[in-house]
Amino acid sequence: MSTHETRSTCPYCGVGCGVLVESDGQRITGVRGDPEHPANFGRLCTKGSTLHLTASPRVATQARLLVPMRREHRGAAPAPLGWDDALDLAADTMHRVVGDHGPDAVGFYVSGQLLTEDYYVFNKLAKGLLGTNNVDTNSRLCMSSAVAGYKRTLGADAPPACYEDIDHADCLFIAGANPAWAHPVLYRRIEDARARRPGLRIVCCDPRRTETAAAADLHLQLQPGTDVMLFHGMLHLMIRECWTRPGFIAGHTVGFEALARTVADCTPERVSRTCGIPVEDLHAAARLFATSQATLSLWCQGLNQSSSGTAKNAALIGLHLATGQIGRPGAGPFSLTGQPNAMGGREVGGLANLLPAHRDLANPAHRAEVAALWGVPSVPERPGRTAVEMFQAAADGEIRMLWIACTNPAQSMPDQATVRRALERAEFVVLQEAFAGTATGRYADLLLPASAWGEKDGTVTNSERRISRVRAAVPPPGQARHDWAIVVGLARRLGGRLGRPGLFPFEDPESIWNEHRETTRGRDLDITGLDWAMIDRAGPQQWPLPEGATAGTARLYQDLVFATGDGRARFDDTAWRPPAEAPDAARPFALNTGRLRDQWHGMSRTGAVARLFDHAGEPAVQLHPQDMERLGIGDGTLVRVASARGALVLPARPAPELGASQAFIPMHWGDEFLGGRDADGTPLAGVNALSSPAFCPDSKQPELKHSAVSIERCELP
Ligand code: SF4
Repeated sequence: MSTHETRSTCPYCGVGCGVLVESDGQRITGVRGDPEHPANFGRLCTKGSTLHLTASPRVATQARLLVPMRREHRGAAPAPLGWDDALDLAADTMHRVVGDHGPDAVGFYVSGQLLTEDYYVFNKLAKGLLGTNNVDTNSRLCMSSAVAGYKRTLGADAPPACYEDIDHADCLFIAGANPAWAHPVLYRRIEDARARRPGLRIVCCDPRRTETAAAADLHLQLQPGTDVMLFHGMLHLMIRECWTRPGFIAGHTVGFEALARTVADCTPERVSRTCGIPVEDLHAAARLFATSQATLSLWCQGLNQSSSGTAKNAALIGLHLATGQIGRPGAGPFSLTGQPNAMGGREVGGLANLLPAHRDLANPAHRAEVAALWGVPSVPERPGRTAVEMFQAAADGEIRMLWIACTNPAQSMPDQATVRRALERAEFVVLQEAFAGTATGRYADLLLPASAWGEKDGTVTNSERRISRVRAAVPPPGQARHDWAIVVGLARRLGGRLGRPGLFPFEDPESIWNEHRETTRGRDLDITGLDWAMIDRAGPQQWPLPEGATAGTARLYQDLVFATGDGRARFDDTAWRPPAEAPDAARPFALNTGRLRDQWHGMSRTGAVARLFDHAGEPAVQLHPQDMERLGIGDGTLVRVASARGALVLPARPAPELGASQAFIPMHWGDEFLGGRDADGTPLAGVNALSSPAFCPDSKQPELKHSAVSIERCELP
């Protein structure tokens, strides 16, 4: 049988690498990096280069959900039913719940793995047809603090920089990110830039001495949760040493005086004590940031997943504004997205506080514009529930029907005890998912099989605002359907019952894309000029790309006119505050969670690839060797890790890269892999049995990077 290649995009991280997918039309047989894609120029990391192994016939038949299934009652084995019956059941149930309890009794929890077109129809269904803003996403756990930080300072959720800026920067300031593991192909670009330009300096701020930190010229190994104090200490020094740019500040910003007052008492000595870093390192970092020709900052979850996430983002962006390090090649703030399409979800407004094309739910004019675009009387004003709030509301009995798509909250959400109580208490849970056997699936009353990567068409947007096509190489297995088509099937049924037919005329993802791009007309992310034919012809493009433009936009704010009403950027003067849950005598360790190099999220996909386990084959809690000695434990000793919310038993592993009194547990292992049950018979939930639901008051992003835990040797019976 002949093979051919399909041009598509990697479904893992926000680098958004192009891949060429080899298939015989029925089976995916290989992948290679797309040499023409500007995100990777042919490179792939270990995960991307094994994508074909996640789509093997064995995985497609054994690990996939293949037909719609219904549970008569919780705990029963699910039984197959036809698609029409499944969608009728879903629509009838939703109609009844809305009739009995109002639209806010329904919640949609979706995913940054979805394509932009999938996201668009979910958002329109909830906010346009049903009348609830209860649609949120696992991207809330990933980048909502960056969204809030950009809006607070630059006026719009628009990362100004691009990957090419790495090639122009003289200083890379990497904060709360380990691209060597989490964004590997981007990190190769950093290594290349360094090899070409030995003058390039890299500063890395991270409580762990990660691979990225170890390779940096300067590693600021700060205490967990002290980033705002660090950035304010740097600004204090910049002011004292006259390294700021008063002309830039006066001409293009507002609010510097208030921030200067906030940082006045962030003396080097105080910052050194709070952050646990030497004064001379603080001084060197401030000098490099401010006085380099071009400074580019890169950050990710270490800043975002925090109860001060917005303040951390805004404080770092403030350093760029104070020093004029923005709007030029190689200079600017640049948040990295964790998921492949977290950015696309932001663009269509697929979060509880947003509307399409970066409009705000709280803005009456924006609500009216969207209602007119959608042809509905209004968009509800009531704020929607964000991720943590949504599951809390379900646990409290306020949300009665949950529709979950392409994500596994029974592993990935913090405070699993509450999340599982929510899933148990909800009257009806629908799971739209490609993979069988996820922890969330156990709670689902209705399971709807969705197509997966390699089988679906649409678009994704990567960290640098670049929109790429995802293309199907093979058909979905069994009766699996595309996510957009499942939503449209539900929406048409509901539209009939609610007396609003005709809102979902879509026959393919391209027609959804065309409606989406029309919503962007005149907005900061205007993509009215970007049809699919242009992507086919000219390759992936960066927004904005308005009608008439012949190419996308690499950098924003080169004219130094920001997206605020008066064109001036804003400083944020929020003072440092410690993480929500301070370690104490009872729980003296600060627990951090995060990725390993070769696994992805809950391992639905990467868990099927044996070679990826060579890097780390089992879960463990990492501890500093001196802490292990103090606890009297060795490599592999089983320890009980306990927070205020739950406990886990794991082997301990020495990790000299951690600071004292810190612990790290990877996020990938959930109950499918841990296998066991706790004392109540509940399956073990992975690290999020322990993690804290505290969230940033502005971005509502939970503090997955910090909770207080105790650790003690586990005495087995
Ligand atoms: Fe995929 Fe990210 Fe690896 Fe690129 S760097 S191949 S997008 S996982």
